[in-house]
Amino acid sequence: MNERDTEMILSQLQCAGYELTNNEKMADVVILNTCSVREQAEIKAIGKSGHLARRKHTNPNFKIGIVGCMAEHLGEKLFKLNGAIDFVVGPKRLHELANVIEDTGHSLRIGEPEKQQVAHDFNRKLEKKKCTAFLSIMHGCNMRCSYCIVPRTRGNEQYRPMEDIVEEAKFLTKNGIKEITLLGQIVNNYGGRLMPTVDGKTPFVQLLESLNALPGIKRIRYMSPHPRFFSDDLILVHKNLSKLCSSVHLPIQSGSNRILAAMRRSYTREKILEIIKKLRDAVPNVGISTDIIVGYPSETEKDFEETVSLFDAIKFNMAFVFKYSPREGTKSAELLDDVEETIKEHRNKILLQRVQETSMHYHQQFLGKTVEVLIEGRARRGANTMFGWTTNHCKVLFEASENDIGKIVPVRIDSFATTILSGTIVQNAQTETALS
Ligand code: SAH
Ligand code: SF4
Repeated sequence: MNERDTEMILSQLQCAGYELTNNEKMADVVILNTCSVREQAEIKAIGKSGHLARRKHTNPNFKIGIVGCMAEHLGEKLFKLNGAIDFVVGPKRLHELANVIEDTGHSLRIGEPEKQQVAHDFNRKLEKKKCTAFLSIMHGCNMRCSYCIVPRTRGNEQYRPMEDIVEEAKFLTKNGIKEITLLGQIVNNYGGRLMPTVDGKTPFVQLLESLNALPGIKRIRYMSPHPRFFSDDLILVHKNLSKLCSSVHLPIQSGSNRILAAMRRSYTREKILEIIKKLRDAVPNVGISTDIIVGYPSETEKDFEETVSLFDAIKFNMAFVFKYSPREGTKSAELLDDVEETIKEHRNKILLQRVQETSMHYHQQFLGKTVEVLIEGRARRGANTMFGWTTNHCKVLFEASENDIGKIVPVRIDSFATTILSGTIVQNAQTETALS
């Protein structure tokens, strides 16, 4: 989401006449787009702003801005933490940035904008040679997970009109985009109670169907769905919509029903297992990844073992594992953060090891098979090495030319590792649809 917000900031500032530099030392303005989900991210951003402050000695016009969730969370306090910061702009006020940069003195724009404005999303300039794009379909979140600061920093849910999203998708395809990733904090609750279910189809599924019908789009992904809203109609479109990718990032947070209830996640491990079974029955070889928090207050060894056993049962091919971090103003911040750091670290390590094993196992099945890959860009290694992704979200390296970016090509897999497959483009190959 922050990546998409950063793109939006960039197009806005470019339209206002600013120029992007990749060399920080050349910049007259540096904007840090921040995250508040864990304390560590905030500490890093403050540290970075401190380093940047020194630039003011050599360039009196140099400006530092803090934007995004941390701006909303800490507001005025940021000027006290670092007096060299010039402006602080929250996620709901990002469309005001071009004006704010021109302000003199400390400028603070947080809270609700004066005029309600959600449509600012559709103001984008696209980099050349890009074939994938994020598309925000909603903002904010109405859930109140006990540990999470997002509803406080990004506000309540607001849904963009379906027609606007489809228009933006058309614009993207006209500009060379082949794959779109729909974004929302609980993306599958798009429309909430404000948009009707039609013929048993939730608004999110209706949107997926409209996007699937656009000729220019080759692939559709979405992030992040919430297990509570993972309805059967969504599982069915995974089977029926040709462009909807065979991968789902489903944050489960914990495998212990006791901890899930304490987190106010409103589902159980049984519900997760049921969703995954239905998904796997509908889409063979679907790639499944997740988010987990270890060391939530009062998490016992037994609770953690339940998470491990759920990992063993599901066999995720990727997982983000986070150590619990108490966030000011959230419900769980009132509880004692009683799981020691070393235990959090240990639990984190165990889950990461587990996911490395299951990911290796998942990748192994592709050896010698041919899969379809959307060529996205140049890989870091090797002059002609390009990278792309399969529909089930495996990253693949292979030789190709930069002119091939945006093409979907058959690649035979020659070797694999935990996070990557390597292969060779094959001409006129029949891809294994079950695997690709
Ligand atoms: N809306 C998404 C998650 C957004 S935050 C969802 O509900 O799934 C991204 C991830 O950060 C979460 O899935 C969670 O695993 C992690 N996270 C959020 N708050 C956290 C906290 N206080 N401590 C540690 N990890 C946290
Ligand atoms: Fe945070 Fe829960 Fe909303 Fe996700 S669903 S953004 S974890 S409150």
